[in-house]
Amino acid sequence: MFDDLRDLYQEVIFDHNRNPRNFRIIENADKKVEGFNPLCGDRLTLYLQMSGDVIVDASFQGSGCAISTASVSLMTEIVKGKTEQEAEELFKKFHEMTTGKDQDFNLEAVGKLAVLAGVREYPARVKCATLAWHTLDAAIKNEQQAISTE
Ligand code: ZN
Repeated sequence: MFDDLRDLYQEVIFDHNRNPRNFRIIENADKKVEGFNPLCGDRLTLYLQMSGDVIVDASFQGSGCAISTASVSLMTEIVKGKTEQEAEELFKKFHEMTTGKDQDFNLEAVGKLAVLAGVREYPARVKCATLAWHTLDAAIKNEQQAISTE
């Protein structure tokens, strides 16, 4: 990765960590699921407001490291207006990107989420980045139980 791009990515992560987007509770949310990453101590509650199978609003509460906070902040922005199926497809791509099995992964396929591509070089941080998405996956599948990455 070019250094300029790496700096830009880090700047976006810092920004989302300092000023998390959609950091609020949705009263009477259609879906509410808690996620926990014991490895790092990241903890979040995800709220979704649905209209049919479209995610019309997404928000979160909780506390975690910079990577987990930036990831859930970015996710709540990007899934708004998407159908459950589109969100699940993004999760799949995000998972492929962060686990780094595909070295030729096309970063354009994930848009803004590409800023988190760097975590694949740090296996311990992958769960920080994917916690938000595992929680979203559980919410979409209507699993009410708190999820844990372990
Ligand atoms: Zn973490």
